[in-house]
Amino acid sequence: MEHEIKNGITNRVLQSLFYRPKPEQLNEKTVEQLYDQTIRSSVSRLETYHQCSYRYFAQYTLGLNERSTFQLAAPDIGQLFHESLRAITEWVYQEGKAFFELTDEDIRAYARRAVEKLAPVLNHQILFSSNRYKYILRKLEQVIIRATNVLAYQARHSEFAPTGIEIGFGRRHKLPPLQLNLPKGYQLELSGRIDRVDQAEIDDQLYLRIVDYKSSQKDLSLVDVYYGLALQMLTYLDVVLTHSTKWVGKQAEPAGVLYFHVHNPTISDPKEADDEALEEEMIKAFKMKGLLLEDEDVAKAMDQSLESGMSKIAPFGVKKDGSFRSGSKTVDQEVFQRMNKYVRHVMMNAGNEIVNGEVKLNPYQKKDSVACTYCPFQSVCQFDPTLDEHEYRRLKEDSDPAMLERILKREEEL
Ligand code: SF4
Repeated sequence: MEHEIKNGITNRVLQSLFYRPKPEQLNEKTVEQLYDQTIRSSVSRLETYHQCSYRYFAQYTLGLNERSTFQLAAPDIGQLFHESLRAITEWVYQEGKAFFELTDEDIRAYARRAVEKLAPVLNHQILFSSNRYKYILRKLEQVIIRATNVLAYQARHSEFAPTGIEIGFGRRHKLPPLQLNLPKGYQLELSGRIDRVDQAEIDDQLYLRIVDYKSSQKDLSLVDVYYGLALQMLTYLDVVLTHSTKWVGKQAEPAGVLYFHVHNPTISDPKEADDEALEEEMIKAFKMKGLLLEDEDVAKAMDQSLESGMSKIAPFGVKKDGSFRSGSKTVDQEVFQRMNKYVRHVMMNAGNEIVNGEVKLNPYQKKDSVACTYCPFQSVCQFDPTLDEHEYRRLKEDSDPAMLERILKREEEL
């Protein structure tokens, strides 16, 4: 190569050996050309930013997209579940009914109606494209029936009732966007959509909780909150509490954030169990996960059937004297407030880095996962962990109490 003329054939053949992909920071002019003074983004996009800032750049700044293919992907199924539960809840209220009074027949009829309405508009009617997909559609309908059944059970045992479904915040939505000021006159304007907000009035105090429908098992990981990978639930709570007076007519307090896993669980040993025990196992399989307010009355309002022991509905348990059992996922109101402040800070930090033009190959690595696993931009970023200059960003994980302590310590410093 040294003796060859510039750009000769040997050079061209061998230059890939010395190629080191390394993104450069964007200069001020490029940033000005790329972003408006008001950067419109969403909480989930900022979660992507914290997974890997190059992925955010590729997906949302450059707007790169995978070529769409005719297939049923996980997001399509998630969308069908979301839309079905939203439609069913809407129909239930429109018809002057309540979830707790739904019979099995009602539920089956609503699920069939939802599937018939939504399947034809999903990904070019893919669910009608073959007998295999038609079979999958019937299976998905069973999941919707199962989930709706459990929602009806939970409603029968809870004082909390939905006050809003699929509530959007942002421009032209029910609730205003979340606005965060950034340096150089930039502003980060965040929008989003909240699956469900429930309310209950206890001793004249209004409480709100966020419920998120997930098509895979999920819990609120404080490691993820600390590193900005799970910002949605706490931000949604922040938004509804901030605007509760205008929206529901009363200043509300936080009751919690909960994930509801939409699935059709397999119950082991069905032959040995009677119908009642099976039903109980089924309800337990749908127990919501997340974080609740450390207030016995509020928690019990989420599961009125509970006298002592662990709840089958939400992540808490009570002792005979009424106090919380260990293993309950609760924090007090002040901690909720401080966590919300921390989350805002994490999002502002991301905004600062974006307007400073930072684009890094910094995919996270946790004990059991890395950011690149499901990332479609590997062929663009060419991240290669075998190269010295490419390294995963290792996240230091710890127990929930230790992570909470770290969150609160950082919040204190703000
Ligand atoms: S493949 Fe990995 S490094 Fe590349 S953009 Fe995706 S997450 Fe980032």
